[in-house]
Amino acid sequence: MTPTLLIKFGGTSVGAPESMQQSVDIVARAAKEWAHVVVVTSALSGVTDALLESARCAAEGNMQPFYRSEELLRERHAAIAARLVPDSGERARLMRSLNDLLASFRSLCQAVAVLGEASPRALDAIAALGERMSVRLLDAALRARGLPSRFVESGECIVTDDHFQNAYPDLDATRERTRTVLLPLLQGGLLPVVTGFLAATPEGVTTTLGRGGSDYSAALLAASLSADEVWIMTDVDGVMTADPRLVSEARSIPQLTYREVAELAYFGAKVLHPKTIRPVIEAGIGLRIANTFHPEHPGTWIVSDGEETRHGRIKAVTAVSGAALVTIEGRGMLGVPGVAARAFAAVAALKVSVTLISQASSEQSICFTVPADARQRVVAALEETFAAEIARRDIDRVWAGTEAVILTVVGAGMRRTPGIAGRIFTALGEAGVNVIAIAQGSSEVSISLVVDAADAQTALRAVHALTVEGGR
Ligand code: ADP
Ligand code: ASP
Ligand code: MG
Repeated sequence: MTPTLLIKFGGTSVGAPESMQQSVDIVARAAKEWAHVVVVTSALSGVTDALLESARCAAEGNMQPFYRSEELLRERHAAIAARLVPDSGERARLMRSLNDLLASFRSLCQAVAVLGEASPRALDAIAALGERMSVRLLDAALRARGLPSRFVESGECIVTDDHFQNAYPDLDATRERTRTVLLPLLQGGLLPVVTGFLAATPEGVTTTLGRGGSDYSAALLAASLSADEVWIMTDVDGVMTADPRLVSEARSIPQLTYREVAELAYFGAKVLHPKTIRPVIEAGIGLRIANTFHPEHPGTWIVSDGEETRHGRIKAVTAVSGAALVTIEGRGMLGVPGVAARAFAAVAALKVSVTLISQASSEQSICFTVPADARQRVVAALEETFAAEIARRDIDRVWAGTEAVILTVVGAGMRRTPGIAGRIFTALGEAGVNVIAIAQGSSEVSISLVVDAADAQTALRAVHALTVEGGR
């Protein structure tokens, strides 16, 4: 098999002339060392937000944000082109194709304004424009550097269902399409540069893989090509012991297992989209998260679960805000079968997702977290579902707490290691933080705690301090 590397650049890695220059340098170096290189790019930083905001306002009849975004998008792409695409003919061709995309942005927003509604399908067509623009720009910059780049829209490669805004890929069809489209390019000595984030239904209608989904695109393409390595290039030195925006002492973690990183991603470490991990593990592909702006730093390597030797260390902590803890309470629940099943069915019917479930030691209460903005709806649905039990006083009450934060402490083998939970609670106790609930997930690699939003920062720092002792 030909050694194949897939490099994904996030929005900040392509968001300004100097950043895109760094990304081009990284590709140029990799192309010397690897026989086959495929690049995946996000939209320039902030672009997806601007596109979606324009569409949302257009639906309310306000086209001002569209006009502002249209201008800003043209300027930002042109500023990068001015620096990285010196040939005026090439640059003019590039600007024409970007202007065509801006023209579709205009017609889509006008259509949304006329309809007074932005359907999920229209939002995907609009959101996808960010990557469709950035891929053309990066392609031109790579060619200006002498690399044999060829841009590809991932709608040609990744096939999904029509669950717009969060589409689900058909893995077999994706593998086949990806190989049909990309292998001939690679074998012809070209370097494909592919849009992240977007995909298409079998009929060719544009979909997207969900916010932050370019990481997932990279994983799907890598698995389809049986690549050897995927590098997720971002703006921090890999996965860190906590979100560096929240904890200034956060440090880069050299090595994490698949399960550890899966848990971190699921519980809010935005550095990697949670869906990225599975296709990559299943195909046995090496996964590295590294910094475009600090390319000599190794970043974080993700290793298979068997390779982690020093079990029982606290490696990292994440915080997910905007949760609310919902509690169903009542002595009469003891031994009544099916209460939990009915409760979760009622929540699922609202299409609200439950992030964690906490079991009390007695059967007198069930608590779980939902997004805080859904708490009213969830409580109302549960009161309706359990109206009979509430009337009989088998259930005393259903209630939602104030806004809470879920802290998740991650480290392989942690829950089997005696004393770790104790250390976490001691640290929180000493910091004066009250733990509202603990989640007993089945996962051996994490413990989740719910704390009041007001205590989140203190709790995060207190738990983060525990990563220092054995975190390296
Ligand atoms: P990209 O655009 O490159 O995909 P993202 O903004 O999606 O970048 O993700 C990178 C950001 O994730 C970092 O800038 C950092 O603020 C945030 N982040 C949150 N938790 C962590 C963590 N544990 N380790 C590293 N970064 C984290
Ligand atoms: N541009 C998309 C987003 O902002 C996808 C990505 O960056 O991963 O959500
Ligand atoms: Mg991202």
